Amino acid sequence: MDFPKEVRINEMVLRDGLQLEKKILTVEEKKLLFSSLKDAGVKSFEFGSFVHPKLVPQMATSGELFEEIAGEAVNLVALVPNLKGAERAKEFGVEQINFVFSASDTHNMQNVHKTTEQSIAELKEINDFCNQNHIVLNTTIATTFGCPFEGEIPEERILAIINQLLDFTIHQLSLADTTGMANPKQVYELLTEVKAAFPEQNLNLHFHNTRGMGLANILAGLQAGVTSFDAALGGLGGCPFAPGATGNVCTEDVVHMLQCMGIRTDIRLDGLLEASALLETIIGHPNNSYLLKAGPYDRKYAVPISQ
Ligand code: ZN
Repeated sequence: MDFPKEVRINEMVLRDGLQLEKKILTVEEKKLLFSSLKDAGVKSFEFGSFVHPKLVPQMATSGELFEEIAGEAVNLVALVPNLKGAERAKEFGVEQINFVFSASDTHNMQNVHKTTEQSIAELKEINDFCNQNHIVLNTTIATTFGCPFEGEIPEERILAIINQLLDFTIHQLSLADTTGMANPKQVYELLTEVKAAFPEQNLNLHFHNTRGMGLANILAGLQAGVTSFDAALGGLGGCPFAPGATGNVCTEDVVHMLQCMGIRTDIRLDGLLEASALLETIIGHPNNSYLLKAGPYDRKYAVPISQ
């Protein structure tokens, strides 16, 4: 099996990671986390979202945070659920946005009170807005691998949705497993089909580890030729509009797995572990990182001295 030599990791802790946390972090605390991750070599961040602050109060300071970190030489992406969000992002000078809608009508109704078709119609307006304002547009199809209300989403539906997106200037398309329903066989088969049908599309995968299949799904994505993945420090995160949602795949566990396999990410594991420990201090509870507990695979212990 040929694996890619290099993989890109998009750090989600400041957006997906914090949006289910009870504690609402200050801009200063978010900035500390950002700096710690940047020092570890992270170059791509989804730093916040422009959603209604009453719906997701954890994200209310996204614009202020952007103003604090905008000068840094890293990729900064803001999630937007609609045109209004894109307009808000522009007011703060955000240069790259990620428009999210769901493949499942029911989840999309819960999230943004629109059907999938209505969100794709809005994407046309957002696409025009981004082109006029020189904003890079990414798009995420949530619930690609399953919906907590509708169950399985047929592959044909995903392919048909992607086909509709060809009219737009989408820099990166993410397929998201919003509530951890994906399995490795499904990921491999769907991504093999998507890559064959849309060879020009820049693809990214977004997994949640809700049922412990996150790393296995990343492996399946790698086997299908995908080289870009979302992950969140400490495995934090979850969708506020999906029952039973839990964290993203954990960045330090993903980077560690890739490093063990000889795949480059340009992220330093020891730096990530420092950021992970800082995260626990800031949120005030343990996170979901295996690596923070166990250390890297080559950690060696002193042999116990027997009496
Ligand atoms: Zn997510």
